[in-house]
Amino acid sequence: MAEEWGMLYLCPTPIGNLKDISERILDTLREVDIIACEDTRNSLKLFNHYGISKPLTSYHEHNKYDKAKELIFKLKQGNDIAIVTDAGTPGISDPGEVIVKECLDEGIRVTSLPGPCALITALTMSGQKTGRFVFEAFLPPEKKERAEILKELKDETRTMIIYEAPHHLKKTLKDILEALGDRQISLLRELTKKFEEVKRTSLSEAVAFYDNNEPRGEYVLVIEGKDRKILRSEKEEIFKDMSLGEHMEIYLEQGYDKKESMKLVARDRGISKRDVYNALLQTGK
Ligand code: SAM
Repeated sequence: MAEEWGMLYLCPTPIGNLKDISERILDTLREVDIIACEDTRNSLKLFNHYGISKPLTSYHEHNKYDKAKELIFKLKQGNDIAIVTDAGTPGISDPGEVIVKECLDEGIRVTSLPGPCALITALTMSGQKTGRFVFEAFLPPEKKERAEILKELKDETRTMIIYEAPHHLKKTLKDILEALGDRQISLLRELTKKFEEVKRTSLSEAVAFYDNNEPRGEYVLVIEGKDRKILRSEKEEIFKDMSLGEHMEIYLEQGYDKKESMKLVARDRGISKRDVYNALLQTGK
């Protein structure tokens, strides 16, 4: 890391309310040499409001790899650069992730300033459990990949957070209901704006509601994780008629080693690893 190299600053911007920007972020935007924006026209509205006038350049989904190289060259010349995406925290469901990795690979210093992020705002006001959660960003549009992700989420016990645009909402809700079964969901829209709304309901009711009402605004879906007790009894039911050897095979085939497989089998059956070990010894497996 060369002392004279510049630094990359990830600068979150408001997700709806122009006032949601910290003094530190404004100072940083005023002090850096270049601001790289996902959409310069969009960011200009914010910069004009706060009297920020800096050289701007575009850094978006379609130029992120080439542009990252160009920005790294400028950072190595000693320029400090801020990354600003359309809304919220750069790196969360936007191109920010690429430049961070490339900078760290090159030994360039990176810092991320705290600020607005739709997933955290949504989760904290969703009424769902916040202790353990998983962020799924946007579900992939491609059918096979989408089905795979939804299959993985079926037994997820943590609260799940998903981003969605209004024109895909109906289909996404239906797909989630079909894959996960009915459960609680909070739909959050227009966060930090005048018509901010949180709708706490069930997945089936949400599907029925949007069959008769057009979705409006950007959405964050916060979905209840699966109840651990239900998951355990479902697994016990599945494994009831299976021998320990067959049960072990399931995990070995997935690439787990013997020790890890024993641990997972023990967890599924609610018994100790030692019990699994001893039983397998007796059967000579
Ligand atoms: N980087 C952003 C962040 O930190 O949240 C997310 C960018 S992602 C391209 C845009 C998605 O974030 C939207 O489709 C929506 O799901 C969510 N989002 C952003 N602003 C929102 C708002 N004001 N209300 C509800 N959801 C919002």
